[in-house]
Amino acid sequence: MLVNLKDIIAMAESGNYCIPAFNVYNMETVMGVLKAAEETKAPIIMQVYPRLMKEETGYFLSPVILAAAAKASVPVCFHLDHGPSTLETTRCLRYGATGIMLDGSTLPLEENIALTKSVVDTCKYVNVQVEGELGHIGTTKDSEFDEFTSPESAKYFVEQTGVTCLAVAVGTAHGKYTKPPKLDIERIKEIRKATNNTALVLHGGSGVPDEEIKKAVAAGVRKMNFATDICYAFLDCCLEELQNPERSVAIDNFMKKPIDAVKDFCISRIKLVGADGKAE
Ligand SMILES: [Zn+2]
Repeated sequence: MLVNLKDIIAMAESGNYCIPAFNVYNMETVMGVLKAAEETKAPIIMQVYPRLMKEETGYFLSPVILAAAAKASVPVCFHLDHGPSTLETTRCLRYGATGIMLDGSTLPLEENIALTKSVVDTCKYVNVQVEGELGHIGTTKDSEFDEFTSPESAKYFVEQTGVTCLAVAVGTAHGKYTKPPKLDIERIKEIRKATNNTALVLHGGSGVPDEEIKKAVAAGVRKMNFATDICYAFLDCCLEELQNPERSVAIDNFMKKPIDAVKDFCISRIKLVGADGKAE
């Protein structure tokens, strides 16, 4: 069933685990993620890059996500990832999203607050909640990380904006890591404490060592994003299949293995963050 961001985060909060948020790109990745959630009886978030909302893809992909959520026996939230402006956030709401991220992390603090709050206020009218970002989470290609999120500014940001969850910079990055990242677990605990236990979000979950992920969840991370490794699971399998002389050229049959590759990856992450069996 389709649920909003507030309700799915509340499940994680009361059960002391984390909701995995998987980026989806096409119908096949939606099918793989849904299969994983159903098999493990896990509540999950399906999220889309903002560029999909700017381009035509969002128009076609959104109904696929909504169809998957309607069919699901587990809670599914349809979320926008890294919305940079009200163009993407409004369009994604129009297409049926039940969670919105507004990423103003590259703006000065007060501008980030003003933009995030305006999106929180709009989303309220349709019972949708917002994820904000404070402390910019860069990419693995950056030569150095920006400053990590400070607990004091996180407290101020959450109070001023009314976000439901907050993405924080604590050592992760987007993309493929060249060496395993080390997370600032103490900082996660401090931010939780300072923000009256606001649900924290970890971006760049692909490639973070399992032990670090477990510690982050125990410290209060309630949503963890996986995007890069979904792409690799899907595309590596496609490339392998192309070498297979027995492969089917009928696209629907060809896609069966890549769909299962996405499913297998998602199942491993669902179990790692403790979401398996939580939708029973
Ligand atoms: Zn991200």
